[in-house]
Amino acid sequence: MSEIYYGTPVARAIRASLEERIAALRGEGREPKLAILRCGDEPGALSYERSALRSCEQAGIRVESIVLPWTAGTAELLRQVDRVNGDQSIHGVLVLRPLPRQIDTQQIFRRLRADKDVDGITVPSLARVFVGRGSGFGPCTAEACLAMLDHYGVPLSGSRVAIIGRSLIVGRPLSMMLCARDATVTLCHSKTRDLPSICRESDILIAAAGCAGLVDERFVHPGQILLDVGVSESFDGKLCGDVAFEAVSPLVRAISPVPRGVGTVTTAILARHVVEAAEELP
Ligand code: NAD
Repeated sequence: MSEIYYGTPVARAIRASLEERIAALRGEGREPKLAILRCGDEPGALSYERSALRSCEQAGIRVESIVLPWTAGTAELLRQVDRVNGDQSIHGVLVLRPLPRQIDTQQIFRRLRADKDVDGITVPSLARVFVGRGSGFGPCTAEACLAMLDHYGVPLSGSRVAIIGRSLIVGRPLSMMLCARDATVTLCHSKTRDLPSICRESDILIAAAGCAGLVDERFVHPGQILLDVGVSESFDGKLCGDVAFEAVSPLVRAISPVPRGVGTVTTAILARHVVEAAEELP
């Protein structure tokens, strides 16, 4: 029987590691605080916001939610970005996506201060992931994958890792983080030929495609560790991942489920970034 890598113990350990740091900040009169910027009521954004609110509340971090209508324009959102950039009581900023089509997303990302960019959307944050120095933070989901592997004691150095998905919020930064930990990484995407056999050759397979049930029996072997990052809705309205869990879980060494897997850890990393930002800001 394979081991199930749940996210809850990982998230709990991350939040526990913040307790003393938050107490020290409070002792200096600094209360860590996150601002969440959201446009409209898109279900994915609302779900991430709920999870972020819960995680920050459990950690003892204050949150201010700023909600604009779905009809908001770039100038309106930029005004809010300027406000949170300049507010010394706010240490971290989360801009929820998707943003409405009329908003120039790149302008928003360029305007956000990198040292408050706790979800790794700005160019300086990504540069920090790729170069290893500078300001900003890595994308929370990519760091959550590393936290899961570390918590469950999966060795990375020398391991062969296949990642499905090359987005800037998951696959690409994660590939750099794993390279920095001496893993050998293959970054796969929608144009990759013979995806199942490439994945089957890996020690660790991380699926972040957003394609329900993509990873089936052909992708795996008995010694493998699987992290499922994908979040989709199945035909019966339930949340599911990229891995065909029922078919695949008996065939591998360990697997993370969806829900209750990597997603649970993502917002604990977010809380940690807010604390780090509060420690670094004057
Ligand atoms: P995206 O659409 O930006 O990128 C998807 C990537 O997967 C692309 O590189 C694409 O080439 C690749 N891909 C898609 N279908 C494929 C296929 N059939 N074969 C091979 N590659 C394929 O998505 P994203 O923003 O990176 O998110 C990916 C998934 O992760 C989504 O389901 C999203 O909901 C989920 N997600 C989860 C968390 C979390 O905390 N658990 C956070 C962010 C995103």
